[in-house]
Amino acid sequence: MKLLFSGDGQLGQMLGASAISHGHECLLYSTRTEEIKPLSAQVSLPWSLQDAVAWADVVSWEHEAIPANVMAAARDKFLMDPARIQSLTDRRAEKKLFDDCRVATSPWQSYNTPTELEKILRQAERGVVIKAARGGYDGKGQWRYQPGDDIAAVVSEAGQAPGIVEDLIPFIKEVSLVGARAKDGSTCSYPLITNVHRQGILSYSLGGIDEVPAAIAEQATEAFQRLTDALKYVGVFAIEFFVVGEGANAQLLINEVAPRVHNSGHWTMLGATCSQFDLHIRALTGMPLPQLSIAPTLMLNVIGAQQIPVGLWHHQDAQCHWYNKTPQPGRKVGHVNIRTANHDTAMQWVAQWADKLQVLA
Ligand code: ATP
Ligand code: MG
Ligand code: MG
Repeated sequence: MKLLFSGDGQLGQMLGASAISHGHECLLYSTRTEEIKPLSAQVSLPWSLQDAVAWADVVSWEHEAIPANVMAAARDKFLMDPARIQSLTDRRAEKKLFDDCRVATSPWQSYNTPTELEKILRQAERGVVIKAARGGYDGKGQWRYQPGDDIAAVVSEAGQAPGIVEDLIPFIKEVSLVGARAKDGSTCSYPLITNVHRQGILSYSLGGIDEVPAAIAEQATEAFQRLTDALKYVGVFAIEFFVVGEGANAQLLINEVAPRVHNSGHWTMLGATCSQFDLHIRALTGMPLPQLSIAPTLMLNVIGAQQIPVGLWHHQDAQCHWYNKTPQPGRKVGHVNIRTANHDTAMQWVAQWADKLQVLA
Protein backbone atom coordinates (compact mmCIF):
# COMPACT_ATOMS: atom_id res chain seq x y z
CA MET A 1 0.00 0.00 0.00
CA LYS A 2 0.96 3.64 -0.25
CA LEU A 3 1.17 5.54 3.04
CA LEU A 4 1.59 9.26 3.68
CA PHE A 5 2.42 10.55 7.17
CA SER A 6 2.01 14.11 8.35
CA GLY A 7 5.32 14.88 10.10
CA ASP A 8 8.94 13.88 9.42
CA GLY A 9 10.40 13.86 12.94
CA GLN A 10 11.76 10.75 14.64
CA LEU A 11 8.31 9.19 15.01
CA GLY A 12 7.59 9.67 11.30
CA GLN A 13 10.98 8.21 10.40
CA MET A 14 10.44 5.14 12.58
CA LEU A 15 6.91 4.66 11.21
CA GLY A 16 8.30 4.95 7.68
CA ALA A 17 11.00 2.34 8.34
CA SER A 18 8.34 -0.02 9.63
CA ALA A 19 6.05 0.63 6.65
CA ILE A 20 8.90 -0.27 4.29
CA SER A 21 9.71 -3.46 6.19
CA HIS A 22 6.11 -4.52 5.59
CA GLY A 23 6.48 -3.98 1.84
CA HIS A 24 4.61 -0.68 1.68
CA GLU A 25 5.70 2.59 0.08
CA CYS A 26 5.87 5.65 2.28
CA LEU A 27 6.12 9.43 2.04
CA LEU A 28 6.58 11.88 4.92
CA TYR A 29 5.21 15.43 4.80
CA SER A 30 7.33 17.89 6.73
CA THR A 31 4.96 20.16 8.64
CA ARG A 32 7.90 22.55 9.12
CA THR A 33 9.27 22.98 5.56
CA GLU A 34 6.12 21.69 3.76
CA GLU A 35 8.32 19.33 1.72
CA ILE A 36 7.34 15.81 0.69
CA LYS A 37 10.07 13.31 1.55
CA PRO A 38 10.22 9.82 0.02
CA LEU A 39 11.05 6.69 2.00
CA SER A 40 11.58 4.04 -0.69
CA ALA A 41 8.64 5.36 -2.72
CA GLN A 42 9.28 5.35 -6.48
CA VAL A 43 8.16 8.89 -7.16
CA SER A 44 9.74 11.81 -8.97
CA LEU A 45 9.92 14.71 -6.57
CA PRO A 46 9.37 17.56 -5.87
CA TRP A 47 5.75 16.84 -5.17
CA SER A 48 3.10 19.07 -3.72
CA LEU A 49 1.02 17.95 -0.75
CA GLN A 50 -1.89 17.46 -3.19
CA ASP A 51 0.23 15.13 -5.37
CA ALA A 52 1.22 13.10 -2.31
CA VAL A 53 -2.36 12.82 -1.08
CA ALA A 54 -3.58 11.71 -4.53
CA TRP A 55 -0.80 9.05 -4.56
CA ALA A 56 -1.55 7.71 -1.06
CA ASP A 57 -4.03 5.00 -0.10
CA VAL A 58 -3.99 6.06 3.56
CA VAL A 59 -2.91 9.26 5.31
CA SER A 60 -1.89 9.19 8.99
CA TRP A 61 0.23 11.31 11.32
CA GLU A 62 3.23 11.11 13.61
CA HIS A 63 1.66 13.73 15.88
CA GLU A 64 -1.90 14.87 16.58
CA ALA A 65 -1.08 18.50 15.69
CA ILE A 66 -2.24 17.84 12.12
CA PRO A 67 -1.94 21.07 10.10
CA ALA A 68 -5.16 22.51 8.63
CA ASN A 69 -3.85 22.17 5.05
CA VAL A 70 -3.23 18.43 5.56
CA MET A 71 -6.69 17.93 7.05
CA ALA A 72 -8.31 19.76 4.13
CA ALA A 73 -6.25 18.06 1.40
CA ALA A 74 -6.48 14.51 2.75
CA ARG A 75 -10.06 14.42 4.05
CA ASP A 76 -10.99 11.14 2.28
CA LYS A 77 -7.74 9.32 3.04
CA PHE A 78 -7.85 9.35 6.85
CA LEU A 79 -9.24 6.28 8.60
CA MET A 80 -10.99 8.45 11.21
CA ASP A 81 -12.04 12.05 11.70
CA PRO A 82 -8.77 14.05 11.80
CA ALA A 83 -10.50 17.09 13.35
CA ARG A 84 -11.49 14.96 16.35
CA ILE A 85 -7.88 13.83 16.75
CA GLN A 86 -6.50 17.34 16.24
CA SER A 87 -8.89 18.68 18.90
CA LEU A 88 -6.99 16.59 21.47
CA THR A 89 -4.10 19.07 21.18
CA ASP A 90 -6.28 21.25 23.44
CA ARG A 91 -6.17 20.02 27.03
CA ARG A 92 -9.73 21.25 27.61
CA ALA A 93 -11.11 18.96 24.86
CA GLU A 94 -8.87 16.15 26.08
CA LYS A 95 -10.08 16.41 29.69
CA LYS A 96 -13.69 16.67 28.51
CA LEU A 97 -13.21 13.42 26.56
CA PHE A 98 -12.05 11.74 29.80
CA ASP A 99 -15.12 13.05 31.65
CA ASP A 100 -17.47 12.06 28.80
CA CYS A 101 -16.00 8.54 28.79
CA ARG A 102 -16.14 8.38 32.61
CA VAL A 103 -12.41 7.74 32.91
CA ALA A 104 -11.16 9.06 36.27
CA THR A 105 -8.81 12.02 35.99
CA SER A 106 -7.41 14.72 38.27
CA PRO A 107 -10.24 17.21 39.05
CA TRP A 108 -9.92 20.20 36.72
CA GLN A 109 -11.27 23.60 35.74
CA SER A 110 -10.54 25.69 32.68
CA TYR A 111 -9.79 29.42 32.51
CA ASN A 112 -9.73 31.89 29.65
CA THR A 113 -8.37 35.04 31.28
CA PRO A 114 -5.88 36.02 34.01
CA THR A 115 -8.82 37.09 36.18
CA GLU A 116 -10.45 33.67 35.88
CA LEU A 117 -7.14 31.96 36.72
CA GLU A 118 -6.64 34.20 39.74
CA LYS A 119 -10.11 33.37 41.03
CA ILE A 120 -9.47 29.63 40.74
CA LEU A 121 -6.11 29.91 42.54
CA ARG A 122 -7.61 32.00 45.38
CA GLN A 123 -10.08 29.19 46.02
CA ALA A 124 -7.46 26.40 45.79
CA GLU A 125 -7.21 24.47 49.04
CA ARG A 126 -4.34 22.26 47.98
CA GLY A 127 -1.51 22.19 45.44
CA VAL A 128 -2.45 22.46 41.77
CA VAL A 129 -0.81 22.20 38.37
CA ILE A 130 -1.64 24.88 35.81
CA LYS A 131 -1.28 23.74 32.19
CA ALA A 132 -1.55 25.87 29.07
CA ALA A 133 -4.43 24.55 26.95
CA ARG A 134 -2.25 24.28 23.85
CA GLY A 135 1.31 23.62 22.79
CA GLY A 136 2.68 21.90 25.92
CA TYR A 137 5.05 18.93 25.74
CA ASP A 138 7.94 17.62 27.86
CA GLY A 139 6.47 19.54 30.80
CA LYS A 140 6.62 22.91 29.03
CA GLY A 141 3.72 25.33 29.57
CA GLN A 142 3.13 24.08 33.13
CA TRP A 143 3.26 25.84 36.47
CA ARG A 144 2.82 24.61 40.03
CA TYR A 145 0.92 26.53 42.69
CA GLN A 146 0.55 25.86 46.41
CA PRO A 147 -1.82 27.87 48.66
CA GLY A 148 0.26 30.72 50.07
CA ASP A 149 2.43 31.11 46.95
CA ASP A 150 2.57 34.50 45.20
CA ILE A 151 -0.61 34.39 43.08
CA ALA A 152 0.23 37.49 41.04
CA ALA A 153 3.54 36.04 39.88
CA VAL A 154 1.94 32.76 38.71
CA VAL A 155 -0.99 34.53 37.06
CA SER A 156 1.25 36.93 35.15
CA GLU A 157 2.99 33.96 33.49
CA ALA A 158 0.31 31.29 33.24
CA GLY A 159 -2.57 33.69 32.56
CA GLN A 160 -1.15 34.79 29.18
CA ALA A 161 -3.20 32.16 27.36
CA PRO A 162 -6.16 29.89 28.21
CA GLY A 163 -5.47 26.75 30.18
CA ILE A 164 -6.59 24.33 32.84
CA VAL A 165 -5.95 24.03 36.56
CA GLU A 166 -5.90 20.51 37.97
CA ASP A 167 -5.12 19.01 41.36
CA LEU A 168 -1.50 18.04 41.96
CA ILE A 169 -1.61 14.25 42.32
CA PRO A 170 0.65 12.60 44.93
CA PHE A 171 1.17 9.59 42.69
CA ILE A 172 3.00 6.40 43.69
CA LYS A 173 4.27 6.06 40.14
CA GLU A 174 3.44 6.80 36.51
CA VAL A 175 2.48 4.13 33.98
CA SER A 176 1.32 4.13 30.38
CA LEU A 177 -0.71 1.83 28.21
CA VAL A 178 0.30 1.53 24.56
CA GLY A 179 -2.00 -0.46 22.35
CA ALA A 180 -3.81 -0.53 19.04
CA ARG A 181 -7.37 -0.60 17.79
CA ALA A 182 -8.10 -2.11 14.38
CA LYS A 183 -10.80 -1.08 11.89
CA ASP A 184 -13.04 -3.92 13.11
CA GLY A 185 -12.84 -2.59 16.68
CA SER A 186 -10.53 -5.32 17.96
CA THR A 187 -7.72 -4.18 20.25
CA CYS A 188 -4.43 -5.36 21.71
CA SER A 189 -1.93 -3.77 24.06
CA TYR A 190 1.46 -4.23 25.68
CA PRO A 191 1.59 -4.68 29.47
CA LEU A 192 1.52 -1.45 31.48
CA ILE A 193 4.80 0.43 31.17
CA THR A 194 6.44 2.21 34.14
CA ASN A 195 7.63 5.73 33.28
CA VAL A 196 9.99 7.98 35.22
CA HIS A 197 10.21 11.67 34.38
CA ARG A 198 12.86 14.26 35.22
CA GLN A 199 11.98 17.93 34.96
CA GLY A 200 8.76 16.99 33.14
CA ILE A 201 10.61 14.98 30.45
CA LEU A 202 10.41 11.20 30.11
CA SER A 203 13.73 9.90 31.41
CA TYR A 204 13.23 6.13 31.13
CA SER A 205 10.56 3.49 30.68
CA LEU A 206 10.38 -0.08 31.92
CA GLY A 207 8.62 -2.40 29.49
CA GLY A 208 7.49 -5.81 30.65
CA ILE A 209 9.45 -5.42 33.89
CA ASP A 210 7.15 -4.23 36.68
CA GLU A 211 4.20 -6.33 37.78
CA VAL A 212 0.98 -4.41 38.40
CA PRO A 213 -2.09 -5.64 40.29
CA ALA A 214 -4.64 -7.23 37.95
CA ALA A 215 -7.24 -4.63 38.95
CA ILE A 216 -4.95 -1.83 37.76
CA ALA A 217 -4.29 -3.55 34.44
CA GLU A 218 -8.04 -3.97 33.99
CA GLN A 219 -8.73 -0.29 34.69
CA ALA A 220 -6.15 0.64 32.07
CA THR A 221 -7.57 -1.60 29.35
CA GLU A 222 -11.09 -0.43 30.18
CA ALA A 223 -9.99 3.19 29.73
CA PHE A 224 -8.26 2.26 26.46
CA GLN A 225 -11.42 0.58 25.20
CA ARG A 226 -13.72 3.45 26.11
CA LEU A 227 -11.53 6.21 24.70
CA THR A 228 -10.60 4.48 21.44
CA ASP A 229 -14.21 3.37 20.87
CA ALA A 230 -15.43 6.94 21.44
CA LEU A 231 -12.92 8.21 18.88
CA LYS A 232 -13.56 5.28 16.47
CA TYR A 233 -9.81 5.15 16.54
CA VAL A 234 -7.62 3.08 14.19
CA GLY A 235 -3.93 2.61 14.98
CA VAL A 236 -1.65 2.89 17.98
CA PHE A 237 -2.91 4.95 20.91
CA ALA A 238 -1.13 5.68 24.20
CA ILE A 239 -2.47 6.66 27.61
CA GLU A 240 -0.45 8.13 30.50
CA PHE A 241 -1.73 7.37 34.00
CA PHE A 242 -0.89 8.20 37.59
CA VAL A 243 -1.06 5.29 40.05
CA VAL A 244 -2.48 6.50 43.37
CA GLY A 245 -2.88 4.45 46.54
CA GLU A 246 -1.20 1.15 47.27
CA GLY A 247 -2.16 -2.51 47.39
CA ALA A 248 -5.89 -3.10 47.29
CA ASN A 249 -6.49 0.68 47.25
CA ALA A 250 -4.41 1.29 44.13
CA GLN A 251 -6.25 3.21 41.45
CA LEU A 252 -5.46 4.85 38.12
CA LEU A 253 -6.05 8.46 37.20
CA ILE A 254 -5.61 9.34 33.55
CA ASN A 255 -3.11 12.15 32.90
CA GLU A 256 -3.14 12.56 29.13
CA VAL A 257 -3.43 10.63 25.88
CA ALA A 258 -1.37 10.49 22.71
CA PRO A 259 -3.36 9.43 19.62
CA ARG A 260 -0.23 8.02 17.97
CA VAL A 261 2.93 6.06 18.70
CA HIS A 262 4.48 7.24 21.97
CA ASN A 263 7.94 7.67 23.50
CA SER A 264 7.05 5.25 26.31
CA GLY A 265 6.50 2.56 23.64
CA HIS A 266 9.96 2.81 22.06
CA TRP A 267 11.21 -0.18 24.08
CA THR A 268 9.02 -2.41 21.89
CA MET A 269 11.54 -1.98 19.04
CA LEU A 270 13.75 -4.40 20.96
CA GLY A 271 11.40 -5.92 23.53
CA ALA A 272 8.44 -7.07 21.44
CA THR A 273 8.00 -9.32 18.41
CA CYS A 274 5.82 -6.55 16.96
CA SER A 275 6.99 -3.01 17.77
CA GLN A 276 4.51 -0.17 18.33
CA PHE A 277 5.50 1.15 14.87
CA ASP A 278 4.77 -2.22 13.23
CA LEU A 279 1.52 -2.35 15.17
CA HIS A 280 0.43 1.04 13.83
CA ILE A 281 1.28 0.05 10.25
CA ARG A 282 -0.64 -3.23 10.64
CA ALA A 283 -3.71 -1.41 11.94
CA LEU A 284 -3.59 1.21 9.17
CA THR A 285 -3.22 -1.38 6.42
CA GLY A 286 -5.94 -3.70 7.69
CA MET A 287 -3.72 -6.58 8.81
CA PRO A 288 -5.02 -8.52 11.82
CA LEU A 289 -3.56 -7.39 15.12
CA PRO A 290 -0.93 -9.84 16.37
CA GLN A 291 -0.48 -11.58 19.68
CA LEU A 292 2.13 -9.45 21.42
CA SER A 293 5.05 -11.39 22.82
CA ILE A 294 7.47 -9.35 24.91
CA ALA A 295 10.71 -9.52 26.88
CA PRO A 296 11.73 -7.23 29.79
CA THR A 297 13.28 -4.09 28.32
CA LEU A 298 14.50 -0.73 29.60
CA MET A 299 14.30 2.35 27.37
CA LEU A 300 16.60 5.21 28.29
CA ASN A 301 15.97 8.50 26.52
CA VAL A 302 18.98 10.41 25.24
CA ILE A 303 18.24 14.03 26.14
CA GLY A 304 20.53 16.83 25.00
CA ALA A 305 23.67 14.64 24.91
CA GLN A 306 26.11 15.15 22.02
CA GLN A 307 26.29 11.42 21.30
CA ILE A 308 25.52 7.95 22.56
CA PRO A 309 28.71 6.57 24.16
CA VAL A 310 30.45 3.93 22.08
CA GLY A 311 30.21 1.47 24.97
CA LEU A 312 26.46 1.35 24.44
CA TRP A 313 26.68 1.04 20.64
CA HIS A 314 28.91 -2.01 21.22
CA HIS A 315 26.97 -3.61 24.05
CA GLN A 316 25.28 -6.89 23.18
CA ASP A 317 22.23 -6.05 25.28
CA ALA A 318 21.79 -2.47 24.00
CA GLN A 319 20.08 -1.21 20.85
CA CYS A 320 20.85 2.44 20.08
CA HIS A 321 18.73 4.89 18.10
CA TRP A 322 20.09 8.32 17.15
CA TYR A 323 17.65 10.79 15.58
CA ASN A 324 20.10 13.06 13.73
CA LYS A 325 18.87 16.15 15.55
CA THR A 326 21.04 18.98 16.84
CA PRO A 327 21.59 18.34 20.57
CA GLN A 328 20.30 21.02 22.93
CA PRO A 329 19.78 20.74 26.69
CA GLY A 330 16.39 19.11 27.28
CA ARG A 331 15.92 17.98 23.64
CA LYS A 332 15.28 14.30 22.90
CA VAL A 333 17.96 13.24 20.41
CA GLY A 334 17.85 9.44 20.66
CA HIS A 335 17.01 6.48 22.83
CA VAL A 336 18.69 3.26 23.95
CA ASN A 337 16.76 0.03 24.44
CA ILE A 338 18.35 -2.42 26.84
CA ARG A 339 17.54 -6.07 27.36
CA THR A 340 17.52 -6.58 31.11
CA ALA A 341 16.40 -9.28 33.50
CA ASN A 342 14.36 -7.44 36.08
CA HIS A 343 13.73 -4.18 37.96
CA ASP A 344 17.01 -4.31 39.91
CA THR A 345 19.20 -4.87 36.84
CA ALA A 346 17.29 -2.13 35.00
CA MET A 347 18.03 0.27 37.88
CA GLN A 348 21.73 -0.59 37.63
CA TRP A 349 21.68 0.44 33.96
CA VAL A 350 19.87 3.65 34.86
CA ALA A 351 22.40 4.44 37.61
CA GLN A 352 25.28 3.84 35.21
CA TRP A 353 24.00 5.72 32.16
CA ALA A 354 21.16 8.17 32.85
CA ASP A 355 23.36 11.10 33.79
CA LYS A 356 25.70 10.54 30.83
CA LEU A 357 22.81 10.41 28.37
CA GLN A 358 20.68 13.20 29.80
CA VAL A 359 21.67 16.83 29.64
CA LEU A 360 18.63 18.65 30.98
CA ALA A 361 17.99 22.38 31.02
P1 ATP B 1 4.49 14.85 27.39
O1 ATP B 1 5.85 15.14 26.90
O2 ATP B 1 4.35 13.53 28.09
O3 ATP B 1 3.41 15.10 26.38
P2 ATP B 1 3.38 17.16 28.77
O4 ATP B 1 4.19 18.38 28.63
O5 ATP B 1 2.17 17.01 27.93
O6 ATP B 1 4.30 15.88 28.60
P3 ATP B 1 2.20 16.12 31.22
O7 ATP B 1 2.30 14.71 30.82
O8 ATP B 1 0.85 16.68 31.45
O9 ATP B 1 3.00 17.11 30.27
O10 ATP B 1 3.08 16.36 32.54
C1 ATP B 1 4.47 16.06 32.55
C2 ATP B 1 4.79 15.40 33.87
O11 ATP B 1 4.52 16.33 34.94
C3 ATP B 1 3.94 14.19 34.17
O12 ATP B 1 4.44 13.03 33.55
C4 ATP B 1 4.04 14.16 35.70
O13 ATP B 1 5.28 13.65 36.10
C5 ATP B 1 3.96 15.63 36.04
N1 ATP B 1 2.56 16.04 36.24
C6 ATP B 1 1.71 16.52 35.32
N2 ATP B 1 0.48 16.75 35.82
C7 ATP B 1 0.55 16.41 37.12
C8 ATP B 1 -0.39 16.39 38.20
N3 ATP B 1 -1.64 16.81 38.05
N4 ATP B 1 0.04 15.95 39.41
C9 ATP B 1 1.32 15.54 39.58
N5 ATP B 1 2.25 15.52 38.62
C10 ATP B 1 1.87 15.95 37.39
MG1 MG C 1 1.62 15.74 26.53
MG1 MG D 1 2.83 13.46 29.42
